[in-house]
Amino acid sequence: MENAVRVRFAPSPTGLLHLGSVRIALFNYLFAKQKKGTFILRIEDTDPERNFDPGAKIILEDLAWLNLTFDEGPNIGGPYAPYFQSERAPIYQEKLDQLKKQNAIYRCFCTQEELEKKRKRQIALKQPPRYDRTCLALSIQEIKKNLLEKKPFIWRFKLITNKTIEINDLARGVITFDFSNFSDFPLTRQNGTFTFIFANAIDDMVMKMSHIFRGEDHISNTPCQAALFEAFNIPLPIFWHMPIICNVEGKKLSKRDFGFSLRDLKHAGFLPEAICNYLAIIGGSFEKEIMNMSELIKTIDFSDIHSTSAIRYDVEKLKWVNHQWLIRYMPQELLTQILPFLEKKYPQAKEVTQEKLISLIKTIQPELKTLQDAPAFLSFYFEEPEVSKKNLLEQETDIIVQELIELFIAHIDKIDSPDLYYQAIAKVCKEKQISLKHTWRLFRIILTGKPSGPGVKELLELLGPAKIKKRIQHIV
Ligand code: GLU
Repeated sequence: MENAVRVRFAPSPTGLLHLGSVRIALFNYLFAKQKKGTFILRIEDTDPERNFDPGAKIILEDLAWLNLTFDEGPNIGGPYAPYFQSERAPIYQEKLDQLKKQNAIYRCFCTQEELEKKRKRQIALKQPPRYDRTCLALSIQEIKKNLLEKKPFIWRFKLITNKTIEINDLARGVITFDFSNFSDFPLTRQNGTFTFIFANAIDDMVMKMSHIFRGEDHISNTPCQAALFEAFNIPLPIFWHMPIICNVEGKKLSKRDFGFSLRDLKHAGFLPEAICNYLAIIGGSFEKEIMNMSELIKTIDFSDIHSTSAIRYDVEKLKWVNHQWLIRYMPQELLTQILPFLEKKYPQAKEVTQEKLISLIKTIQPELKTLQDAPAFLSFYFEEPEVSKKNLLEQETDIIVQELIELFIAHIDKIDSPDLYYQAIAKVCKEKQISLKHTWRLFRIILTGKPSGPGVKELLELLGPAKIKKRIQHIV
C-alpha cells in the first residue's frame, strides 16, 4: 500500500532503556496505532564493543512490560527481516556497491592521527572542522599502491557541497541544511563494518519508513542521511526530532537522576500504564490527564506538535499519575502487582489467605503512590510493634494508660468476636467517662506502634484474635 504509515523504534542495546528512549518508542507506537500503520522494532547493534544487551533481551522484555507491541521485529520477523543490524551486513554491502558504481563514494586512507591533526589545525584557524578531501584527490595509481600495501581505509560519501537540502520536521517545519558545512562522512569503519549513519539510513530506506521520530540528538546526522536517500533517489520520510528529557533543574536527565532508567522505575513500583500515560502527557496540556493507551491513541494530536527545547521530568507528577492508576485498580488485580514487593519484604505473606490479603490491600489502596509503598504500609500486619508499657507510660502522661491496658486485658476472652470486644471496651469507657478517642488511640499504638491507620473495628478484623492477643499481652 502506498503512503502507508511505517514507523520504527531503533534502539542501540548499549545500556538500559532510559525514559527518553521510552518516550520515543511510545510516540512511534501511538502514531502507528492512530494512523493504522505499522510499528517496527529494529535493533541497532552494529557496534559489538558497546553491546550491553546481547540479543536485546532487556529491550524486548521492557517493551513487552510497557505493552508497546510491535508489528515487525526480532522474534516475530516481518517482510524486511532480519531486524538486528548485526545480521544485515550483506544488505549494506550491496548498497555500498551500488554507490561505488555511481561513483558517489571514495576510499579514505587517512589515519586517525592525521585526521586529528587536521582537525586541530582547522580549529586553530577558526575554520569549521571538516575532512579536507585529501583522499578524493588520490590518483588511481596511488590508490592501487595503498591497496597493495594493505593500508587500512574507510569509504566516505562524496557530498555535493554547493547545495542545500530540506527536511520536513513535524515540530520544526522545513529545515534547510547547507552541505557546504558538512564533511564527506564515513560509511564504513577500517575493520569493514558499517557506520551508524549509513546502516541506519539504508534500513530506513529498505524498510520503507514513512516517518522517523527520534531524539533531537540525531538532528546533526539527518542531512548526511538525507544525502544518502537522495543518492538512491528515494523520497525522504517526515521527521520528528523529539526533545530531550531534562530533570527539574533543566539539565539533561542523567544516570544520577532517580528514574532515569525504566528498570529503576519498575523496581520502585511504578506501573507501566502510569509511565506511558505520564510520558505521553508531559510537554503538552490535556483536559483529562489520566488516559489509557486507547485514549492516548485517540487524543494525541500529531498535527499540532510544537518545538520545545526540552521536556521536564518531574518524579512528583509521575507519582501522582501512578497513584491515580493504583486507586483505579480492582483490589484483586492490585494484589497481583503488590505480591512480589510484599513477599520480598515479608516472605510469610505467602502463607496469608488471598481474602485476608485483599482486605489488607483495600485499607492501604487510597494512600498508595507506588507498589513499593505497600510493604511499609502493611508492616502493622506483619511486624509486632516495638512498644513497651514503660514507653507508653512515659509518652502518655495520663495515668489512665495503666487502667486502659488493664481494661484491654480484662476483656481479652471476647477477642474471638471483634465486635463484642469493641462493644465491651466502649461500654466500660462510657461508664467511666473515659474518652473513646483516647482509648482507641492507645489501643492502636499498642497494636501497630502508630497512632493512626485503619479504623479500630477494621484493625480488629484485619489482625484477628491471635495477633491481637499476643500484642496486648506483650505489653503487660
Ligand atoms: N540507534 C539510535 C539510538 O539509539 C537511534 C537512531 C534513530 O532512531 O534513527 O539513538
